Amino acid sequence: MPRRFHLIPGVYAYVGRLPKGCRLCIQGTKMVIFITGVCHDNCFYCPVSPERFGRQVAYADEEPLQSIEDLVDEALRIGADGASITGGDPLVALEKTVRTIRVLKEVFGDEFHIHLYTSGRYATSDVLRELEESGLDEIRFHPTAPWLMERIERAVKLLRRVRVGVEVPVLPDRVEELKSMIKWLDDIGVEFINLNEVEVSPLNVLRLSERGYRVSKDAPVVEGSEEAAIEIVKWALNNTRRISVHYCPAGYKDSVQMRIRLIRKALRVMKPYEELTSQGMLRVKRAPVNPTTTRIVHEGYGEVIGNSVYFWPGLALEDEELITRYPTRMHHLLPMEKDSAK
Ligand code: SF4
Repeated sequence: MPRRFHLIPGVYAYVGRLPKGCRLCIQGTKMVIFITGVCHDNCFYCPVSPERFGRQVAYADEEPLQSIEDLVDEALRIGADGASITGGDPLVALEKTVRTIRVLKEVFGDEFHIHLYTSGRYATSDVLRELEESGLDEIRFHPTAPWLMERIERAVKLLRRVRVGVEVPVLPDRVEELKSMIKWLDDIGVEFINLNEVEVSPLNVLRLSERGYRVSKDAPVVEGSEEAAIEIVKWALNNTRRISVHYCPAGYKDSVQMRIRLIRKALRVMKPYEELTSQGMLRVKRAPVNPTTTRIVHEGYGEVIGNSVYFWPGLALEDEELITRYPTRMHHLLPMEKDSAK
C-alpha cells in the first residue's frame, strides 16, 4: 500500500502505521506504569516532575504504587488492554521491570500489550534477551548520547519478537539532525519513531529558557515544537522507505488520553449516587450524619462513610457539600476539591 501523510490537528500526524502501543494509548486503554524516578541521564528537556525525578517512587497512572497487586487492580479499574513502562529509566530497576512484565502477562494473557521506554544506557545484549523472554512487546529507545545509537542497532539485530522503535522530543532547532537520524534508523530496520512535542514542566522550564527556547502562549510546550514535528513527518513521506514516523502532541496525551482513562475508570468504580463529569471526575453530595441523612441512607439513596453521608446528587439538603474526586478505588472516597458551582 502506498504510504500517505495522515494529519488530525491536535491528535496526530503520521506516515506509515501507528505503533500498537500508540493505538492503545490513544484509546485510553494503556495503563502508564512509572516504575522508578531514577535515571542516570540528565536531559535538559526532561519533563519528569521534581517530586518523581531521581526518586525510587512508583505510580500506576496517577496512583502511588505499593505492590504488584495495586498494579493489577489499576489495570482492572481502567479495563486496560496494555501497559507502558516508563520512568526515569526502567532498566535501572531491571528486576522490578521484568517481574512486572511477567506478572501482567500471567494475569492478563499474552495479548496484553506492554511497551517500555529507555535511553538504552543499560540495554546490553543480556538485558535485551531478558526483556524478550519476559514477554515485552515493544521497546522504545530515547538515545541521550551518540554512543547509544549502537544499542538501537544491536536491539534490531538481536530481538525477534519485540518491536524496536525510537521516541524523541522535537526541539525546533534540531530538525535537520532528526531527519538524518530518521534516515539512519530507516536504513538499519527500526520499525517506527515517535516524535514528541516538548512539554514544559517545573523541572525543565529554566534549563529550556537558558538555551533560548520559549514557552508557547497557548500551552505548556516549547514554541515551534509542533510545527517542526509536522514538517519532519511530511518530509518522511518522500525521504524514508519503511520506517513509520508519528507525531504525538503533548496536549492530546495529557488531556484527552488521561481523560479517557479517568472516564473508563470512573465507569467501573462509581457508586450509584455519584455523577460522572466530562473530565472523568466523580461528583457526589456529602452531608453530616443526622436523622434526615440517616433516613436517606436507609431508603437506599446513599452511604455512610466516616462521619458523613454521601447521597444522590439529585437530592437537595440544606447542609450538603458538593465534592469532586478522582476515580480511585471502589471502597475509598477521597474528596479532591470543592465544586465552586455549588
Ligand atoms: S532519559 Fe528520560 S527520564 Fe532520564 S533525564 Fe532524559 S528525559 Fe528524563
